[in-house]
Amino acid sequence: EAYIAAIDDANEKINAYVAVTPEKAREMAKASDARIAAGKAGALEGIPVGVKDLFATEGVHTQACSHVLDGFKPRYESTVTQNLWNDGAVMLGKLNMDEFAMGSSNETSYYGNVINPWRETGSDRALVPGGSSGGSAAAVAAHLCAGATATDTGGSIRQPAAFTGTVGIKPTYGRCSRWGIVSYASSLDQAGPIARDVRDAAILLKSMASVDAKDTTSVDLPVPDYEAAIGQSLKGLKIGIPREYRVEGMPEEIEKMWNQGIAWLKAAGAEIVDISLPHTKYALPAYYIVAPAEASSNLARYDGVRYGLRVDGKDIADMYEKTRAAGFGMEVKRRILIGTYVLSAGYYDAYYLKAQKVRTLIKRDFENVFHDGVDAVLAPITPSSAFAIGDEELAADPVKMYLQDVFTITVNMAGLPGLSVPAGLDSKGLPLGLQLIGKPFEEETLFKTAYAIE
Ligand code: GLN
Repeated sequence: EAYIAAIDDANEKINAYVAVTPEKAREMAKASDARIAAGKAGALEGIPVGVKDLFATEGVHTQACSHVLDGFKPRYESTVTQNLWNDGAVMLGKLNMDEFAMGSSNETSYYGNVINPWRETGSDRALVPGGSSGGSAAAVAAHLCAGATATDTGGSIRQPAAFTGTVGIKPTYGRCSRWGIVSYASSLDQAGPIARDVRDAAILLKSMASVDAKDTTSVDLPVPDYEAAIGQSLKGLKIGIPREYRVEGMPEEIEKMWNQGIAWLKAAGAEIVDISLPHTKYALPAYYIVAPAEASSNLARYDGVRYGLRVDGKDIADMYEKTRAAGFGMEVKRRILIGTYVLSAGYYDAYYLKAQKVRTLIKRDFENVFHDGVDAVLAPITPSSAFAIGDEELAADPVKMYLQDVFTITVNMAGLPGLSVPAGLDSKGLPLGLQLIGKPFEEETLFKTAYAIE
C-alpha cells in the first residue's frame, strides 16, 4: 500500500510508470500473505517490483512504449517475470522506456520522457534518467518499487543505473530467457535487474535467471547463489584496467572517479593490472550496424494485422504502410532504415558482415585478457553524469547520442556480464557509476567486487 500511495503521489512528476496495476498487486500480496502464513514463503515473497514495458505481462499493458502496439495485452507471461512471480514477487505496474528500447535518454518513448529524480545542485532543470530502461531506474531511485526488471542490448541497464545512483547488472548473454521480451536485437538483448544496492541486485538476478526450452539461447548452467558472493574477500582477484577506455576528451571527473575505484579495490586486496583491449574503438560503429540490422528484421512483424495499431488503407500494402508510418517514432524509423540498408544485397558484405567480424575481434580481446589471468575489468559507464532533457547538442545529432554508449557496448558485443555500481557524486551533485565486466557466467565475481565499491 505504501508503494501504491508513493506512485500515486510521485508518478505524475516522474512519469516512470506507464501503467499501474494496484488491483493485481493487492491480489498478489494477498496470495503472498497466505503462503507466508502456511510457512511456504518464496525468496521474494511480497516484494513489490516494477516491470519494464518490454516484458510481456499477461493481460496487462505491454507496448514497448510504442504507439504501434496500442492496446496490446498479451495472453502470456515472459519467463523472467514468471520466475519473479513464482518466487513471490508482487507486480506494481509497467515502466516507461525508450520506444522498443532504442535510446539512451528515455526521450523516444511514446509516453513522454521520464524525469530523473536527481537534480543538479542549485538548479531546477529536469534531467534524463538515461535509457532505455529509464523508467526502471527512476522508479527504483525514487522508491516507487523495491526493484525493477530491465533489459540491456547496448547499455540500457547500466547507463540508467549510473544516472540514477542505482545498481544494474546485465548478466551474460543466455543467463536469462528472452522469451516474452519484445525483441530489439536478438543476439544482444539480455534481461537483468535494477536495484537499490548490490545485494538486492544479486537476489533479483538469482530469481530472474533460468534455462528455458522456449529460448534456445538460454544456457543450461546452474544459477549460483549470488548473494553468497557478497562480502567475500577480493584477495587474489586480478582487476584489469583497459587503457583504450581512457578516451580522448574524457572529463576529468570521470577519470578521477575511475582512479578512486582502482584505489578502493586495491585497498580491498585486489591486484590491479594494466590491460589492452585493442579493438574497443570499433565497438560503437559495429554495434550501430548489427543492432539496427536485427531490429529492422524483428520490427517487420508490426504490420497492423497481428497486434496493436491498425490504420486502414485502400489495400493491404497501403494499410501496412499507413500503420507503420503512424505507429513508429522517429528514432525507430531511423533504425529500420539503417538496418534495411546494411542488410540489402549490395551492402551486406561491406557493412553487416564486416561488423560481425569486428564483433568477433572484440570478443577475442576480452578472451585474451581473461586467458592472461584477469578476473574482471573496471571501467567507467558513461562519459558524463545525467544530462538535461532536450539537450540541444544531443538532439541535433543522433550520432552524439550514440556516443553515450561508448563504454557499455563492448560488453553486449562480447556477450559478457557487466555491472554498474554507484561510485560517488560529481561536482554538480549527480551520481556517477563504475562498471565491472566479467567472464562469461561469472556474475558472482562482479557482485563481490561491486560490494567493495558500494
Ligand atoms: N543506446 C542503445 C541503443 O539505442 C541502448 C540499447 C539498449 O540497451 N536497449 O541502441
